[in-house]
Amino acid sequence: MTLPNELKAATLAAQAGGVIDMPSGGVTPPIQPSTTFVRDEDYALVNPDNIYSRDNSDIVRIAENVLARLEGAEEALLFPSGMAAIAALFRTLPNGGSIVVQSGIYWGTTKWLRDFSARRNIALHEVEAADPEALARGCRDHTPGIVFIETPSNPWLKTVDIAHAAKCAHAAGALLAVDSTAATPVLQKPLELGADIVMHSATKGINGHSDVLAGVLATSAPAARVWTDIKADRHDAGAVLGSFEAWLLLRGMRTLPLRMERMSSSALKIANWLEAHPKVADVFYPGLESHPGHEIASAQMPGGYGCLLSFLVQGGAPEALAVVGKLRLFHRATSLGGVESLVEHRHTIEPHTGIPENLIRVSVGIEDADDLIADLTRALG
Ligand code: PLP
Repeated sequence: MTLPNELKAATLAAQAGGVIDMPSGGVTPPIQPSTTFVRDEDYALVNPDNIYSRDNSDIVRIAENVLARLEGAEEALLFPSGMAAIAALFRTLPNGGSIVVQSGIYWGTTKWLRDFSARRNIALHEVEAADPEALARGCRDHTPGIVFIETPSNPWLKTVDIAHAAKCAHAAGALLAVDSTAATPVLQKPLELGADIVMHSATKGINGHSDVLAGVLATSAPAARVWTDIKADRHDAGAVLGSFEAWLLLRGMRTLPLRMERMSSSALKIANWLEAHPKVADVFYPGLESHPGHEIASAQMPGGYGCLLSFLVQGGAPEALAVVGKLRLFHRATSLGGVESLVEHRHTIEPHTGIPENLIRVSVGIEDADDLIADLTRALG
């Protein structure tokens, strides 16, 4: 049974798109770990969908189907990490090509793109994409093959106008790809705003339980050359998600809309509280009216602003580390989007990337928001 598309995200997610395991009748699908699938006496496949698990897995297909429907996409492809999904996208570019990428995004993406572009003689142009003029100029001047933005961005929480980015990219003959990780498929729909490909680190909010590493690409144009190239590359080069991870991911996704609703409302409450605190110099969260991207974020993230926020404490690295060290509920750990709240001093991890020494990044979980605020009260003093 497949649930109709017009149902709301919470319904599609809770029922995993309507999957019922047959013939058992189970309301959750089984994990099928087999890497290979048999043929009958006439050498016909017993199940024509399955030959070899490098590209054929029922549970991966079910998880991809749910992701595509939550995203409003025609097709989604799972990868073994967010970075594997990003790499699969950029590997479609020919040597000597050109890329326009938003500056100041997730450092892992920037670092990999710099290395990859140098190896492949690709011209990489890092532009301040939250500035509409700078993005338009970057696209006009550099005739990119791919324009890549991340909104809201990690860890600056900058907001890029996706519809504007799509116009700039398309006018330059480029594809627009959007890393929508911090928003998840339930808070933002880049494809509806004109993006060609949307990408997520499914390790984050999509899975939501800090126990699966996965990535996803999705599109509304599965016949496009870039998509068929990505599919062929995943099949042939083998960057696939294992059955156990896909099963866990599907289980995590059943509560995705519920979790994002709770995390967004708690993050907004905490951001407002931080903004009023005397020891806090600045707060970056698109839900705040003071945020420069608030208007755009409100238009393109109608269901909430997500779990990720950053703030600057008065002082430098010692003051920031003192606050982080006193927290008892927020775990001091990297990553975001899990049910448990995390805190990170990015400057310690990436000292030479321009992250302020007094910046603290927070991923708000599903705990009681007042307990989290009490923890921050104690830590800030
Ligand atoms: N994009 C963003 C915005 C991220 O925050 C991350 C990881 O932190 C990635 C991509 C990479 O994803 P993964 O760690 O699943 O490879």
